[in-house]
Amino acid sequence: MSIFLSKDLARLAPYVPGEQPQDRKYVKLNTNESPYSPAPGAVRAAAAQAWELNLYSDPTCAPLKRAAAEFYGLSPANVMAGNGSDENLAHIFRAFLTDKGVAFPDITYGFYPVLCSLLGIEYRTVPLKEDFSLDVSDYAALACPVCIANPNAQTGICLPEEKVEELIAQNEGRLVVVDEAYIDFGGESCVPLIKKYGNLIVVQTMSKSRSLAGARVGFAFACEELVSELEAVRASFNPYNVNRMSMFAAEASLRDRAYFEECTRKTAEVREYTAAELRGMGFAVLPSAANFLLARHAAAGGGDLYLALKARGVLVRHFSDERIKDYIRVSIGSRGQMEQFLGAVRAVLKEVTG
Ligand code: PMP
Repeated sequence: MSIFLSKDLARLAPYVPGEQPQDRKYVKLNTNESPYSPAPGAVRAAAAQAWELNLYSDPTCAPLKRAAAEFYGLSPANVMAGNGSDENLAHIFRAFLTDKGVAFPDITYGFYPVLCSLLGIEYRTVPLKEDFSLDVSDYAALACPVCIANPNAQTGICLPEEKVEELIAQNEGRLVVVDEAYIDFGGESCVPLIKKYGNLIVVQTMSKSRSLAGARVGFAFACEELVSELEAVRASFNPYNVNRMSMFAAEASLRDRAYFEECTRKTAEVREYTAAELRGMGFAVLPSAANFLLARHAAAGGGDLYLALKARGVLVRHFSDERIKDYIRVSIGSRGQMEQFLGAVRAVLKEVTG
């Protein structure tokens, strides 16, 4: 450690994203990206903007915010746009949690505790039930804000909208952040609830259902007061946070509802096919409403399966957290990619079970 590093960062353990290997071509099913290209209009819009890169992007993100607001029947004043939802989460945590702390489930998106460490936010984890479901009553007596991912990261399990509303209503004087990175693959968004509840912030991303992970665009939806406070933080950190090409690509993508619906429908279909095939091979598969599955097999540990699949050119994700270390998480690719994955799984199981 250098003598220059701030003391409070001495023990910072940064977030470790899924591998983005450059050494060989894998069937890449480890970071929940979409297997489909961005909407054609989004590609054209980004390409056209390449010639304008000598100019800064619009620091108000006005057309993009308008398109996101129109998608949900809101006002642009209810929307903040960011450089991926990770950036929006950072602004939310900075603006609203530094002096209050936060609670989130024990199994969820690993970026939340990392952000807390970076920003010096106290956090507590609330265990999910044995079956990995979330019981909103576990949060009723807590005195701090709450952050959940819905569907939940790593499990894919989705809390029904009425349960999310129960969580928001029971925490009226406390902020509730709902991270809907995976909502478009089968859940019902609680964005409309921002009109009813002043303590709700919903975070969404263009990285998954919109096939724009490389563009880095995400949103925070909330009542006008919370958004204007968030905008102040954003403008104090990086006023041109959404780059020109991504801004136009994201706007065009939001306006192509048919392509979006086709991609999310295909992903949900392929997810159900993959889950059924895995169950047929003896896997326990959690019920997922997301673009990934968390699955476990009695004959092969999660870490071993991950390595054996990688050796066969298929990349999935393994987490070492005690409660999910026996599982692998597989992103839902195209039907062809999932057939390759399933073939590799069959081969590995044959090897271990003889
Ligand atoms: N929230 C959750 C639950 C996620 O899984 C991810 C993706 N890793 C993100 C947020 C971040 O998405 P983005 O690409 O928009 O930063």
